[in-house]
Amino acid sequence: MLKDLFRKQKRYITVRPGTVPEREEEKEPLWIKCPGCGEILYVRELEKGLKVCSKCRYHFRLSAPERIAATVDDNTFQELDGDLQAVDPLSFPGYRSKLSSAEQETGMRDAILTGQGTIDGRSVLIGALEPNFVMGSMGCIVGEKITRLIERAIENKLPVILFSASGGARMQEGVFSLMQMAKTSAAIARLHEAGILYVSVLTDPTTGGVLASFAALGDIILAEPGALIGFAGRRVTEQTLKEKLPPDFQTAEFCFNHGLIDLIVPRNEMRQILAQILSLHSERG
Ligand SMILES: [Zn+2]
Repeated sequence: MLKDLFRKQKRYITVRPGTVPEREEEKEPLWIKCPGCGEILYVRELEKGLKVCSKCRYHFRLSAPERIAATVDDNTFQELDGDLQAVDPLSFPGYRSKLSSAEQETGMRDAILTGQGTIDGRSVLIGALEPNFVMGSMGCIVGEKITRLIERAIENKLPVILFSASGGARMQEGVFSLMQMAKTSAAIARLHEAGILYVSVLTDPTTGGVLASFAALGDIILAEPGALIGFAGRRVTEQTLKEKLPPDFQTAEFCFNHGLIDLIVPRNEMRQILAQILSLHSERG
């Protein structure tokens, strides 16, 4: 079942048009240009290295299945609520076709993959947002799946790890999507009351209503290097505050220096750091 899940995924990285020469006969590019250093990288090698540039350590975005695969022990992940399908509660113009093309592109039914697995043998409930599904935005299904994951964690006394990669709340679902901010935050409050560990990992990008709800509520908040992390964009923030912002504004490093993040963790160390955190907070030590 797990194999099928990953097979649906594209084997290559989505790049902005123009960064890779187009070849009509071949759909999967062999080479990709690093946005960090401009180096031309062999896609297979890049994938072996968890999609981190070997020259400049630029972290390419991971899909939700890639993220889960890079984090949990092999063959331990069991998806939860995989049957929940994105909805269109407002009949928002063009939203249905956007959803079906997102589904085709990513093989997912909405912008999050949740389930249970182990890290270094310790059971966790884990979720990863899918940045390529309507920008990883949170609508009804994302909010519902996160809430169910947390409720299961409370029931089974298991720690929760959530990887964010999101443009924020999903505007096509209007107030229903904004409601998910309150819903997930309330679920996390119950998790805190139950004394259960929640680790939030912010990856590129973590913005808007996702940062303003569950992503910022971790007992421990980690981030990947260079990730864009912020609520509103630079222009809006500058206009509101009426002042110029520093160039590193809204990077993981800026947020770390200002106390929002506990630790910046390079991707190749993430699994080990999470295992250490789980071990420190485990009853059996
Ligand atoms: Zn690079």
